[in-house]
Amino acid sequence: MKTATVYIHAGTTPDPSTGAIMTPIYQTSTYVQEAPGVNKGFEYARSQNPTRQALEEAYAAIEHGAFGLAFGSGVAATDAVMKLLNPGDEVICGNDMYGGTYRLFSKIYERFGIRFQYVDTGDLTQVAAAFSPATKLVWVETPTNPLMNITDIAGVAALTKARKVMLCVDNTFASPYLQNPLDLGADIVMHSATKYLGGHSDVIQGALMMNDPAIREQLYFIQKSSGAVPGPMDCFLVLRGIKTLHLRMQRHCENGRAIAHYLRAHPKVARVYWCGFEDHPHHAVARQQMRDFGGMLSFELKDESLEAAKKVLSSTHLFSLAESLGGVESLINHPASMTHASIPREKRLANGLSDTLIRLSVGVEDADDLIQDLAQALG
Ligand SMILES: *Cc1c(COP(=O)(O)O)cnc(C)c1O
Repeated sequence: MKTATVYIHAGTTPDPSTGAIMTPIYQTSTYVQEAPGVNKGFEYARSQNPTRQALEEAYAAIEHGAFGLAFGSGVAATDAVMKLLNPGDEVICGNDMYGGTYRLFSKIYERFGIRFQYVDTGDLTQVAAAFSPATKLVWVETPTNPLMNITDIAGVAALTKARKVMLCVDNTFASPYLQNPLDLGADIVMHSATKYLGGHSDVIQGALMMNDPAIREQLYFIQKSSGAVPGPMDCFLVLRGIKTLHLRMQRHCENGRAIAHYLRAHPKVARVYWCGFEDHPHHAVARQQMRDFGGMLSFELKDESLEAAKKVLSSTHLFSLAESLGGVESLINHPASMTHASIPREKRLANGLSDTLIRLSVGVEDADDLIQDLAQALG
């Protein structure tokens, strides 16, 4: 089946008890059993819920995986992956990634004896040089948040497969519509479903997708043992969001392209970070592993003062100043003080994330209106 059909139908079959075409919100904590140990496959809702089950089937299908698992947030999904590890294990990860992932790694998992090697995962020689006998996991985010750097997923997968190390890709920024890491050799895909999958800024949720039944078994065990499961209402919302993912992503990409070119030509803009530009350092890799370039981009002004950036950040009307991304409405964000404030300043600057970088999550409004809004904010 082609993508659009999968997004509409994956995981959803008419409800067996009523024929309801939409998967009902099974708002229940437990299930009545006919006799001790005799049940319909559902015992207790931390372990199984029919709404969640439908969504998990959809998760698997949209990432071309065999299995999907839903979590109470994106970081809860990441947390579950980290629980596959043991004290003394090492993780190789990117030095330009979501601030909350960095916080989880550095503030929580370092305390449990996991060690992290931060490298530029866009450079395969740096990744190759970082392996040690203790390396158990490589964590890749591509495109990165917020600098839009690209990592060659198939290239990293070749390195991890040769060493029998697990590769997990945070595919939140691209969405499954633009990129499918399992097809490129990743072992696990992670999503903040809060973003493009939900798509309407009304739910917090995370997802993991995988092919290997043994990895699925371990992660399912962690899901029910640690208990970071999403409620059925949230599962319903994401299931509904997925049905229009392809339509929304097409418009996100169109609008992102229009705004990237508009900003690049603007006399007050110094630099635009968007992987669709042919002179983007990793454009060739992006072209190869992505179907289009998405609606995320960031930029810097020629005026390098914090006041100039703050003026733009507080002057837009259609772009709302807020954290998060991937919703139908456009957002503007200041990574240094908002989404990436949990990364120490020296580390941010060393990774190229300036105090004045402005990030946009371009929504699905009319591109002309969005450009007009940026024009007045920049003017
Ligand atoms: C938002 C985000 C996360 C965390 O997801 P939550 O749903 O907020 O917990 C992880 N990775 C990326 C790239 C994100 O944008």
